[in-house]
Amino acid sequence: MWAYWQSVPAHWREIPARYRLEGGECQDCGYRMIPREDICPKCGSRNVKPINLPRKGNVVNYTVIWNAPRGYEYYTPYVIAIIELEDGTRLTAQLTDVEPSDVKEGMEVEMVLRKTRVSGESGLIAYSYKFRPLIK
Ligand SMILES: [Zn+2]
Repeated sequence: MWAYWQSVPAHWREIPARYRLEGGECQDCGYRMIPREDICPKCGSRNVKPINLPRKGNVVNYTVIWNAPRGYEYYTPYVIAIIELEDGTRLTAQLTDVEPSDVKEGMEVEMVLRKTRVSGESGLIAYSYKFRPLIK
């Protein structure tokens, strides 16, 4: 079992659910965004506070990527989706743990964090969020 886990590429391992989906909320107009920006794209206010966004949502629209940039060929095909979270915030993210042919508009999804790279000697680990079909 130990040997098995050692052989699994780091980016396929899942990070526990305690990680949050952090976005921003404009304190002047209420617009929510992800990632958070310093200036509200809707009203120009600088009064943007970090908030935790819901981790669940629905697929609004999606595109299957057949030709990936160099270095990402291993991952094709994959699916990029526009997801509307439970609070109405929309974001674009990659779907994971699903075959492209099984993706449907309106499908319920939840966020997962995946380790995307470990940079050499510094050991710096990067995470990015993806969405997978909601397991009920
Ligand atoms: Zn605003």
